[in-house]
Amino acid sequence: MIKKYYLLSPGPTPVPESVLSAAAEPIIHHRTPEFSSIFMETVEGLKYVHQTKEDVFVLTSSGTGAMEAAVVNLLCPGDKVITLNGGKFGERWGQICRVYGADVKEIILDWGEPFTKEQLADELKANPDTKAVFATLSETSSGTVYDIQGYGEVVAKTDALLVVDGISGLGATPCPMDEWNVDVMVSGSQKSFMIPPGLAYIAFSPKAWKCVERSTLPKFYFDAKKYKKNLEKRTTPYTPAITLIIQQKKALDIIKTMGLEKLFEHHRILGDATRAAVKAIGLELLSKQPGNILTAIKVPEGVDGIKLVKTMQGKYKAYIAGGQEPYKGKIFRIAHLGYMGGFDIIIALTALEMTLSELDYDFETGKAIKAAEEILKENWE
Ligand SMILES: *Cc1c(COP(=O)(O)O)cnc(C)c1O
Repeated sequence: MIKKYYLLSPGPTPVPESVLSAAAEPIIHHRTPEFSSIFMETVEGLKYVHQTKEDVFVLTSSGTGAMEAAVVNLLCPGDKVITLNGGKFGERWGQICRVYGADVKEIILDWGEPFTKEQLADELKANPDTKAVFATLSETSSGTVYDIQGYGEVVAKTDALLVVDGISGLGATPCPMDEWNVDVMVSGSQKSFMIPPGLAYIAFSPKAWKCVERSTLPKFYFDAKKYKKNLEKRTTPYTPAITLIIQQKKALDIIKTMGLEKLFEHHRILGDATRAAVKAIGLELLSKQPGNILTAIKVPEGVDGIKLVKTMQGKYKAYIAGGQEPYKGKIFRIAHLGYMGGFDIIIALTALEMTLSELDYDFETGKAIKAAEEILKENWE
């Protein structure tokens, strides 16, 4: 049989054909009016997705580079920060802040457990000298979406900043930066933005910019002031990833044509269908607050979770994601993020059913597909 490759992971995600082929065009020079106009249209599109009137800066790095950029541009050594760690990526905020000498109050949550705005308000009351709260919109390791709107309400009443890792969530689930009082938003190209890995985005509120002006942490490549100065001249401080920016402009055109609301609804439908499907065959979700970006599913008792992922990827070429430590072998993750159609989850679910029956899990074949199909059919337009 022809073994076709199916990318079903929460990053990188599939890229539309018209966006892929744009990478085959001859390279143009970046210090030209022609590139500048493409670049500025890209920035406008990014502002649309961020739902902000502030500048969005384009960095040549993976998403973690933008996380580091947030830390080095906002803080001074010894600054107290709160980091919310409900999984691998929330944990990363704490790691970066510690490397740069911040005084980190890390709140460790069970994976998939919510953290309420009231809990955050209590933490801020107990730590009134907090300079920034570092949170995650969509914790990709656990498939959880947190209450950024609520955190924004709470943090806006203090002198602290709310810094949000929107790397898998932004563009797939609502998080209007300005309206929800997010002070810094970071994101990355290979999740919901429908292009390959290699670009990261960062935007600052006016409140955050005051901290940028005061920040004394060392920085060079990621110095936000340089990006701001150069954006005023319609360019970037260093050679941009020209091809990726051209691809991002094309992908943003697709996103704008569809409209953010429709895109959120699309992810909602795929999320609903995936959740209904796995529940229909007796599987459980890891998260108590699952997002529409990906679904993290517990490996049922008696099934070897490592083998499950190996079979799906190796035999069926259905590249879902496994669990990250300490959930390796205990969960697996099906993404419904970025440029995925309704039938892409059917592929994931078919491969899952075939794998589960091979691993002797007791269930009725076809039931997951049927449950997903019903939701897709109801919502198809
Ligand atoms: C993917 C991801 C990251 C890391 O991004 P890289 O591009 O791998 O550096 C950080 N946070 C979240 C929530 C992610 O999904």
